[in-house]
Amino acid sequence: MTGHNDSQLMDQGKHLLGSTLTHRAWTPAHADEDHDHCTLCWAKFSNLGAPRELKSGFCTSDGQHWVCRECVDHFKARFRWLLVDAMDVRAS
Ligand SMILES: [Zn+2]
Repeated sequence: MTGHNDSQLMDQGKHLLGSTLTHRAWTPAHADEDHDHCTLCWAKFSNLGAPRELKSGFCTSDGQHWVCRECVDHFKARFRWLLVDAMDVRAS
C-alpha cells in the first residue's frame, strides 16, 4: 500500500460521496473477475487464499465498488457514508 494522501483519495472516491455502503462477504463485481480492489487504497479483495487478501468489505448498492474496512474507518465521516451491516444478520 502506498502512503495515504487524504485529499488525493477524496478526489479519487468522490463518486462515492454520500453513498450507502453495505458490509458483507466479498463477491466479485464482475463474474469474470477473481478479485476486486478497494476504490481508495487498492487493497485486494479475493478468495484465492492469498496471505493479505480481504474476504469481506463495504460495497456500494450497485455492487460495482468495494471499500476496505480500514478506509471506511478512516474516511466515513468525510464521505458521509451510510453504513449497513449485512454481516450482523447472520451472526444473530
Ligand atoms: Zn482501502
